[in-house]
Amino acid sequence: MTHHETAVPDLGDLLAGLRVVSIPMRVRFRGVEVREAALLHGPSGWGEFSPFLEYEPLEASRWLGAAVEAAYGAWPAPRRTAVPVNATVPAVGPERVPEVLARFDGATTAKVKVAERGQSVQDDVDRVAAVRDAMGSAGRVRVDANGGWTVDEAVEALRRLSRFGLEYAEQPCATVEELGELRRALARAGVDVLVAADESIRKADDPLRVAREGAADLVVVKVAPLGGVRRALEVVEACGLPAVVSSALDTSVGMAAGVALAAALPALDHACGLGTVALLAGDVAEPPLLPSGGRLPVGRVDAQEDLLERWAAPPEREQWWRERVTACHPHLSGATVDP
Ligand SMILES: [Mg+2]
Repeated sequence: MTHHETAVPDLGDLLAGLRVVSIPMRVRFRGVEVREAALLHGPSGWGEFSPFLEYEPLEASRWLGAAVEAAYGAWPAPRRTAVPVNATVPAVGPERVPEVLARFDGATTAKVKVAERGQSVQDDVDRVAAVRDAMGSAGRVRVDANGGWTVDEAVEALRRLSRFGLEYAEQPCATVEELGELRRALARAGVDVLVAADESIRKADDPLRVAREGAADLVVVKVAPLGGVRRALEVVEACGLPAVVSSALDTSVGMAAGVALAAALPALDHACGLGTVALLAGDVAEPPLLPSGGRLPVGRVDAQEDLLERWAAPPEREQWWRERVTACHPHLSGATVDP
């Protein structure tokens, strides 16, 4: 692996360029009603630092590394000028599927939530059938179980869902061991569905383990949890598997880093999960980084002063984020792995 490390800025410099926003969600997501984000300003522009509130400093420091790369470093050269994004269908009833998909004009790939707690496989089948119906035979349909199935449940569910033609199943089971077991069980059962690892990459101390153990056919990669665009690119190269780029609940500044990763990948054969800016009721950039015709443009996005002021977090929350950056900063030099 080659390294193009961004030198770690002084804490004082980081704090001097720090702004904190608090933006309401349009729809409650991941238990979050208001999204807080710290925006860092440096010589290269703006970077976003918005790990979820419960993350401890060590894990959050990887997100800070991504923000520092954006604000102080350089992203790898893009290989394309726009990237395709997928539509997302939450665990709604089949009757609501057309209305949900209509919001993602131009997307030719849909990601469908399955294995929702309190729902049955039949609910998943009905929802995926409605999505296939709406997307037509040329559309791609992937499902995301967020680790919600046991191996046996996943074999049974994917057997039934496979007749709708799945692009892949994302994190069908929770652990790396189960994902490997599932792939072998699917092969034995003659169920032809690819397995993608998401949580097993982004929450793992060792993101390469999935590939080493043959536990996935594809990897879902997110810039912030992996410590930046270059680091994520290295993880993809080291995994040697096709990659799908996704993101957390970012403002347009954070989303642009995900787009930069998708733009830099040697191969981009799958639509990216980067079409989520619309989940926020406001943004720090105008125009926001919203898909048009199912695609996002590649390029930097800078925060704007009037929008930073409009969405400014209360002083006590700003102070909380300054303390968080302070707690993460000592971990920064260790935020990238050695080969
Ligand atoms: Mg996922």
